[in-house]
Order: sequence, then structure tokens, then C-alpha cells
Amino acid sequence: MIAYFENLPRRLSATAGDDDFNAADETNNGDLKSFGSDFGGMITSVPAAVIQPSTADEVASAIRFARANGLALAARGNGHSIHGQAGAAGGLVLDMRVLAGPIGLTGGPRGPCAEVPAGALWSEVLEWAVTEHGLAPRSWTDYLGLTVGGTLSNGGVSGQTFCHGPQVVNVSQLEVVTGDGERRLCSPETGEADLFFAVLGGLGQFGVITRAWIPLLPAPDARAAEMLKPLGYVKGLEFCAKVSYVDFLSRVNHSEAEARVNGTWDAPHPWLNIFVSACDIVDFDREVFRMILRRGVGGPMLVYPMLRRKWDQRMSVSVPDGEIFYLVALLRFARPPPDGPSAEEMMAENQAVVDRCRSAGYNYKLYLPHYRDQSQWAVHFGEKGWSRFLDRKARYDPAAILSPGQLIFSPEAPPHRR
Ligand code: FAD
Repeated sequence: MIAYFENLPRRLSATAGDDDFNAADETNNGDLKSFGSDFGGMITSVPAAVIQPSTADEVASAIRFARANGLALAARGNGHSIHGQAGAAGGLVLDMRVLAGPIGLTGGPRGPCAEVPAGALWSEVLEWAVTEHGLAPRSWTDYLGLTVGGTLSNGGVSGQTFCHGPQVVNVSQLEVVTGDGERRLCSPETGEADLFFAVLGGLGQFGVITRAWIPLLPAPDARAAEMLKPLGYVKGLEFCAKVSYVDFLSRVNHSEAEARVNGTWDAPHPWLNIFVSACDIVDFDREVFRMILRRGVGGPMLVYPMLRRKWDQRMSVSVPDGEIFYLVALLRFARPPPDGPSAEEMMAENQAVVDRCRSAGYNYKLYLPHYRDQSQWAVHFGEKGWSRFLDRKARYDPAAILSPGQLIFSPEAPPHRR
């Protein structure tokens, strides 16, 4: 396990040499600063140390070390959060990308599974599963440069979610290290079922996912023509491109390459993702798309329908009521003035959208939610959901050291069971 220390108090560096946490390779490293920001590029939270664990036991040691020393700790996947959720200002960051390989093929009563270290990217899972085995998970994200542990801590959605459900319902077992430094295997069938459901969509609050078992099916062939046959649509608007399954799943790579060349990949990204219930989507269109956002968003906008029955209400993730809801994703890229509104102006517009949803009484939930205080989180989860969230936090991370960047709890503001 390698640890990069810079600001860590001497007291902690000295303790770090004990049996529980061997930080032998500590060094000053400019990388600390890069672990203090994320894809959003709007929040800076420089950690005291970055730890690169290569096993789940090393994750457990780091968590025990953090807890013993009153430090907060965040698992960081690929740092694709927007609002600092994977940061730990003055605390410890676990660089989960180091925990990335190898992926294993395991059998099970319900067919083959990929046994994946949580720091692996979905693009690495794709490469391994489809190219090497002709198999594929059922549910993907649209963009694959995200870690398995990171998307399972949120939801993991794509254009196929209405059909296969989000990634959180397409996993059969997890290895998790809880806030007390205990490594546990959990699944719906074990005594640890509650931990399994807690960490799925759990925003990193209940444990660090170190390994996931993902059911696999034979990789599908391209069957677009067959799928289009029964659909009614305006023929003139048909757009067809013949690509392989791998190319289809990697379709966002072109946009990423372009954005890297024109510099917008490294610019701030004031993104907003909302789930809006079907019963309010017409009003949302009139009030939000046609009024607040009438000048556009400075980037792609996605609108996908989803089905509530494809989600699992035992999980921590919160979705609107009603059978059909829509993901509305505003994927904004701030360009330097005078080319468009600043990141601050875009953030203010996002806030106006959320305020409108609230004041109009729409049935909505933020996806990849970000709030500043517990009362807003309580509203987000709803009365029953929040009470369950508090209970789970008290059970699995009572010292409230995990994922401080979500701004739900902190070691100074631990959960109180209701
Ligand atoms: P991070 O941002 O590093 O972490 C996210 C949160 O999870 C943090 O709180 C962190 O502490 C916690 N965490 C990370 N790893 C673990 C772990 N192993 N155990 C416990 N907690 C952990 N989302 C979609 O659903 N579908 C998409 O198609 C999609 N496309 C995106 C495209 C881009 C370019 C970007 C920037 C984001 C996209 N997202 C998408 C959002 C993405 O799901 C989130 O950013 C998510 O946070 C995963 O990213 P990550 O792996 O970098 O996790």
C-alpha cells in the first residue's frame, strides 16, 4: 500500500508505521492536489493523504487507521463526480483505481458472473467480457470511463435502463469494508442482505465496495433492423449506423476525444441530473426547457424514460413515485467568456431549475444528488427513506468517517438513530 502524505500531521505519520497501517512509501507528492478536485472542476478539497490500496485488507487497514485518528475517508473511483462527492478535505482519499484487476469469471446457480475489483472501469469490464469471453453484463452506463464501485454507489444508468434496470439491480454479490474496518461479503440471500441493499446507491456512506459479482449473458448481436420493425416512427427521421456491440457501447469515446482536443474536457462542468415523474414532465417541458433553459445548456441534454418497477426500493437510491419517470441530464460545458455563460451562471440556472421543481410541487429526485445540509437530505430521501438511511449509517459507519464529500454526515456530525 502506497500513501502520499503532504499535510498529514507528524503525529499521524508516526502512528502510520504501526502494524495496522504500514505507510512505508510515504512521500510528498504534487498528485495530492489533483485528488482534491473532480470532473466538475468547481470544488477543491485537498486531502491530507492519498492511499493506494492493492487489496481489500489494505482498504480495511486504511479505514481502521482513519477511524482511530478521527479522520474522514473517501473512496475515489475515477473522480467523475461533479460536486466534490469523492473528496475528503484534510482527510484520507483511497485511490480505488489501483484496485482494478484482474477480473475473474465465476460460475453460479444463475449462470456466469464477472468478479470485478471495484476500481475497474466499465470500459475494462467491456474489454474483458465481450472481447475475451463473448459475454456481457446486462446494464451499462452511457459513458464507460467510470468505476464499478463509483456507479454502484449511485445507480448506474443509460439508455438501456428502461429495459434492464440500472446497474445497481444487476449485481449479485458484493465485498464491502464497512466503517468499522470489517470486510464482509453480502448478497440478497445472506444474513448481510441489508448491507448489500444499503451500499447500492448508498453514496459511499456505509462501506467501501471492494469487489462486485456481476451476472453475465451472451453478448448480443447487432439487431437494430429487427428491433425497429414493430416500432411506429417518422421514417424521415430514422438514423441508422452499423456498428459493433463494443463500438456502440463505446460511442461516447468520440465526444470525449473531441472535448479533450478543444479543451472543454478540462473546463468546469456544472452538470445537473434529475429524475422527473411522467405526471410532471409536460409541465417541466413548458416551465424548464422552454423558459429557464430556452437558451440551451451549452452541451448535450439527455431525456430518457425509466420504469420504477425495474428499480429495487430496498436499495438506498431514491427515485420519484409513479411507474414512469424521466432522467433529464444537463451535461453542461463552461467555456471561458465571452463564449458563453460562466460556470457560476450555469450553476445559478441549475439552482433555478431545482427551485422551480420544488415550488411547482413536481414529483422529482436529483440523480447524483448534492445538498448542503441534513434537512435537504431528509427531504430527498423522504421520511421513511431518511429514517432507514440514518439507521444504516449508525449501524455500518457510526463514527461517520466515510464519504464526507457528500456533505451528509461528518465525524463531527454523526448520525442519530430516530
Ligand atoms: P467517483 O466520482 O470517484 O465517486 C463517486 C462517489 O462514490 C463518491 O462519494 C465516492 O466516495 C463513492 N465511491 C467511489 N468508489 C466507491 C467504492 N468502491 N465504494 C464505495 N463508495 C465509492 N452516470 C451514470 O449513471 N450513467 C452515465 O452514463 C454517466 N456518464 C457520465 C459521464 C461523464 C463524463 C461523467 C463525468 C459522469 C457520468 N456519470 C454517469 C456519473 C457517474 O456515475 C458518477 O460520476 C459516479 O460518481 C461514478 O464516477 P466515478 O467512478 O468516477 O466515482
